[in-house]
Amino acid sequence: MKITIIGAGIAGLTTAIALRKFRPDLNLEIYEGSKELRAAGAGLGLGANAVLGFEQIGLKDAVLTVSKVLDSFQVLDAKGKVITQSDNLAINRNLQTISNFAVHRADLQQVLLAQIPDVAIHLNKRVWDFRQNESGVQIRFADGTSTQSDYVVATDGIHSIFRQMLLPESKIRFAGYTCWRGVVDGKQDFPSFRNLESLTRGKIASETWGLGKRFGIVPLPNDRIYWFACLNATQPKEERFAAFGKKELLQAFGDLHAPIPEIIQSTDPTKILWNDIIDFSPVKKFAFDRVLLLGDAAHATTPNMGQGACQAIEGAVILGKTLARIADPKLAFQAFEQVRMQRTTQIVNRSWQLGKLAQMANPVLASLRNFALRLAPDSMSERQVKELLEVAY
Ligand SMILES: Cc1cc2nc3c(=O)[nH]c(=O)nc-3n(C[C@H](O)[C@H](O)[C@H](O)COP(=O)(O)OP(=O)(O)OC[C@H]3O[C@@H](n4cnc5c(N)ncnc54)[C@H](O)[C@@H]3O)c2cc1C
Repeated sequence: MKITIIGAGIAGLTTAIALRKFRPDLNLEIYEGSKELRAAGAGLGLGANAVLGFEQIGLKDAVLTVSKVLDSFQVLDAKGKVITQSDNLAINRNLQTISNFAVHRADLQQVLLAQIPDVAIHLNKRVWDFRQNESGVQIRFADGTSTQSDYVVATDGIHSIFRQMLLPESKIRFAGYTCWRGVVDGKQDFPSFRNLESLTRGKIASETWGLGKRFGIVPLPNDRIYWFACLNATQPKEERFAAFGKKELLQAFGDLHAPIPEIIQSTDPTKILWNDIIDFSPVKKFAFDRVLLLGDAAHATTPNMGQGACQAIEGAVILGKTLARIADPKLAFQAFEQVRMQRTTQIVNRSWQLGKLAQMANPVLASLRNFALRLAPDSMSERQVKELLEVAY
């Protein structure tokens, strides 16, 4: 029986690994639209549920070896004063977990790829359309070729062609802010980097909340710092932002506390990425007979909870385990949908709300928000991790 996976992102690769592990009898193939496997997008913060997912497929140690385990996540105000922070060491002890870690996307991709040397990954194969009937799925590519499969797991990301064809009413929505991302590499020749050394050695990630803007700092292994900078925008693809370079980023974020300007200053400008923050309203269906949507294709979320990739990992592992229980993929796809729908919907909705809170531009409301968060009990972070761990693996 052949299952074809479309897209070799985190969801696609993890799905292949999980299916290999839990259903070694299946014939697997991956088709990827890009000409090469690039891991664009700098760093990733991942949570306790991702650790649990990797553990289920025997990858926990391999992933953590290339990651930095974080001792705390802080929310700071524009001057650098703590609004709220998590004590990950206590949480990890109490819940017997690793609640938060950071990894460079390219490093994670290497770990995932190394697990499936026997799975063919066909590059430069962009799906153009597909058709399914009782005997299988025909997949047509933009280069005019086609392939036949018994089943398809569509992990082709937020702009999934499969979702567009199966759920044409599902439309991308703009969150109202745009985002730049970069990695400062301390091993390269950026003279100002010396001052940032203590930051790279530390294990604290932070998000600084200004007015209508946010700056995140996440230490990575090997003297690197992943950063992201979100700014409110009136519409998607706003023209003035397309021309933003370091100078403009320094103008927009330079009023935030040190070392934010220094981090921007130290980044190789050719490697700064820019994306609008988008998702789509939760859909009601992931399983369509022989085709299953998984990862961002099924439930893309804004990055405010750091849960997009975590949900893709959860999904991949749960699909593998479901197929181990239910041999018929059509039935397994339906069971998967039932188990995953409520959880992913909740995360998409919460993350959307959290983004509104974090990007608040009104100074009075923002100081009320900060005041309320400063009063929040320490147990809040632990409760959140506990909820993430309540996953139906
Ligand atoms: C700014 C930002 C920060 C984020 N930070 C975090 C974080 O800290 N933690 C976290 O957990 N998540 C985070 N995320 C979310 C995370 O990046 C995604 O949820 C995750 O990468 C989704 O993986 P995926 O494999 O489903 O999709 P993708 O990574 O988009 O992969 C889809 C793959 O399919 C391929 N493809 C697309 N169309 C076709 C086609 N027609 N035919 C063939 N192939 C196709 C693409 O080339 C790609 O390789 C962030 C997202 C953003 C935008």
